[in-house]
Amino acid sequence: MALKDSLKKLTKLTEKKSASKIAGYEKELIRQYQIALKEMKAELAKYYESNFSTQRLQGVINKIENILKDAGTKGLKTTKKGIKDTAEFNFNAVQNNLRTVIGTELSFAVLDDKALNSLVANNKFSKINWQSKGLSNIKQDAAFIKSKVYQGVIQGKNYEVVAKQISNQVNIAASDALRIMKTETHRAVNEARVLSMNESASAAERLGFKSVKIWNGGESFPRNHDSMNGTAIPIKEQFTLPSGFQTEGPGLSGNPGDDINCGCYLEFDIEEIWNT
Ligand SMILES: [Zn+2]
Repeated sequence: MALKDSLKKLTKLTEKKSASKIAGYEKELIRQYQIALKEMKAELAKYYESNFSTQRLQGVINKIENILKDAGTKGLKTTKKGIKDTAEFNFNAVQNNLRTVIGTELSFAVLDDKALNSLVANNKFSKINWQSKGLSNIKQDAAFIKSKVYQGVIQGKNYEVVAKQISNQVNIAASDALRIMKTETHRAVNEARVLSMNESASAAERLGFKSVKIWNGGESFPRNHDSMNGTAIPIKEQFTLPSGFQTEGPGLSGNPGDDINCGCYLEFDIEEIWNT
């Protein structure tokens, strides 16, 4: 059916654009940590080039700790920007795609600030949202790097060894931050799509179109939701996952085992009620 085909095609294109948008934010996040690592190593090098005084060591360690904290804070801001941008893009894209298929008589829904802010904050499932989790990661990573550098220097390790330890810790911190970014932007994609379709489903139905949402298993392997691939249900219903959790879409179950590392996304199908 032509309608279905074009909506599917448009959704694929949206998914592609959305993924490249997210990749841009991930790149920015990694860059922030790379810059921080360079600065930390420079601080350490300065210390090794000077005459090693314990008093100076404390200052160097504090500086290194603060550089990592700053990078973490910047990273959270980048994540927030990424979630917001991703959500707005997907919300509007679903509207645009629907209007392209159904026609301009479909009223255009807007993602208001309140809905957008609540989507970004994501307090739905637990009190420990991504921002508090991110902040506690930063604190932990910073404390860890501090003690590693201190121990290394006190034990008389040379610059290369201590710099390597810094580098390892920064890698851990960056991948913690990246995991949050991936999980939350993935959630934003699908939550915004659900919101957008929910806004439009009734209007579309009045115009004679019935819509369903479809679980797409994505491209990444191994898939954690292989059995979900292709499952189609009415817009306002919930999917039941193999884990037993119910969810409006990928990344939205509130169960970390289902939401983290999930590469699935929502697609939509539409049918003319009167003609089928
Ligand atoms: Zn999945």
